[in-house]
Amino acid sequence: MPRRLSGIRADRGYSYRGLERCAADVREQLRLPPTVAINAMMLFDRLDITAQDGTGQDIPIHGYVIELEDLEGFTKYDRDRQIIEILASAQTYEWLEQDHPRSRYFLAHELGHCLLHTDQLVRLAQMPMAQRAGLHRNGQMAAHEVYRDTEWQANAFASALLMPARGLLALEKRHRGGLCPIKIAAHFRVSVVAASYRLDLYNKRKQQLF
Ligand SMILES: [Zn+2]
Repeated sequence: MPRRLSGIRADRGYSYRGLERCAADVREQLRLPPTVAINAMMLFDRLDITAQDGTGQDIPIHGYVIELEDLEGFTKYDRDRQIIEILASAQTYEWLEQDHPRSRYFLAHELGHCLLHTDQLVRLAQMPMAQRAGLHRNGQMAAHEVYRDTEWQANAFASALLMPARGLLALEKRHRGGLCPIKIAAHFRVSVVAASYRLDLYNKRKQQLF
């Protein structure tokens, strides 16, 4: 059955465990323990993370602010400079400065595209402008599986990066009354909605996350 997915078919599928591992690698590179909230502003201004293309070549990732009317931002590969750019709107940058949960999710989601869809971003940059559909498809019916959807993958990666399963486990042990979305949202400085989705997944699929 085709499902309503918002991305395109990713080059490879990822399991929840695989995405959790990718996100844990990023935290390790940033020397951020799984229990600590991500400082999105600092991260955006100094992205000390590199993506790797299919040949093992390192591609630096940089964050920039650009004029954008109705988008929070997006990610693209710059062929001339051979870097991946996370482009944030002025509004998104303002949210980053204010430590707004939405900007934290934006950055984590776009980092997911950089790291999981590196080759696809490079290929997109080689296509003529008119043929570029980007990594988003805006609600058309998709014929691929959920775990192969670029948007599903970027969202699952973002959740794992912002609220690592190991961090949730530590939090769970600390709070006698158990976890709730409000506690998770306050601890990792994410929205209550994002925390609810994450907690739901954590409760339902704990074995698949570690
Ligand atoms: Zn996306």
